[in-house]
Amino acid sequence: MIPTWLQIDYQRLVALGANKQLHHGLLLLGNQGVGSFDLAQQLAFDLLCLTNPMQACGHCKACLLNQSQTHPDYLLITPEKDTISVEQVRAISDFFVTSASYQGNKVVIIKNAESLTLSASNALLKTLEEPNSNRYLMLLAQNSAALPATILSRCFKVQLSVDLELAKSFISSLGIDINAPWVRAFLHRPQTLALWQQQEQINVIEDLYTMMMQSGMQTRHKQLLELFNQNPDYIDIFVQFYAQKLQTELLSNTLDIKRYQEKSQALLSFADKFKEVKGLNLSLQLNQLLKKLSYL
Ligand SMILES: [Zn+2]
Repeated sequence: MIPTWLQIDYQRLVALGANKQLHHGLLLLGNQGVGSFDLAQQLAFDLLCLTNPMQACGHCKACLLNQSQTHPDYLLITPEKDTISVEQVRAISDFFVTSASYQGNKVVIIKNAESLTLSASNALLKTLEEPNSNRYLMLLAQNSAALPATILSRCFKVQLSVDLELAKSFISSLGIDINAPWVRAFLHRPQTLALWQQQEQINVIEDLYTMMMQSGMQTRHKQLLELFNQNPDYIDIFVQFYAQKLQTELLSNTLDIKRYQEKSQALLSFADKFKEVKGLNLSLQLNQLLKKLSYL
């Protein structure tokens, strides 16, 4: 299913495909939760359909294989241990040089292209520079700045974004209250909200928000740590909520600009460390953060 806010981009790419003008290297850029993968996957199914070129019929052999995720001419690459290795990229070139099982196109999607190692990026260049016909590579990334210029210059870039009004009606249709203060922080990531709802996490997140907005949040080390250990996604949510809280305090003059900057800095450096440092002592880092947030 293509999200409503991506329909225009999708139709544009389908039209290019129907005119045999779709670039062999597509780079889809967008925030987490914008729906880049849904778009890429639908395009892949459209490219592989045996009945209607560029509009998956849903009934042919290829469409059925895609629905059961077993189409031999479709390959999905995701990071292994946070990186995409040169071996994974070599598997893509091998996949592209062999002939298609269904005499049509072959499609590869690379999720989190930022995770390509340097040698993997270099290996990928060859595939992008010497395209075989009927081979399509789609790279998904959040931020083009994290990709080598050599890759960027060889791809057709599509920046995907969320239309807030369309996102709001989608979120409402899930039964999530768009006026809830915590939901506002995630309106630009509708698919993320949908995923949380599917995983029945909405109540936990709502409780986390309520807890954070109460005074004495800084003493809830144990409770927060339990949550973070249970699901590391809650760290990102916590950081977003706290950043929102600091902004509110700044705007209502309960926090001066100097303390606002110091606290924001502490929060960001906590988030960065969590992303970058392997084997981080989370309990200790959280303890230090909560101290800074209460005393600064
Ligand atoms: Zn079909």
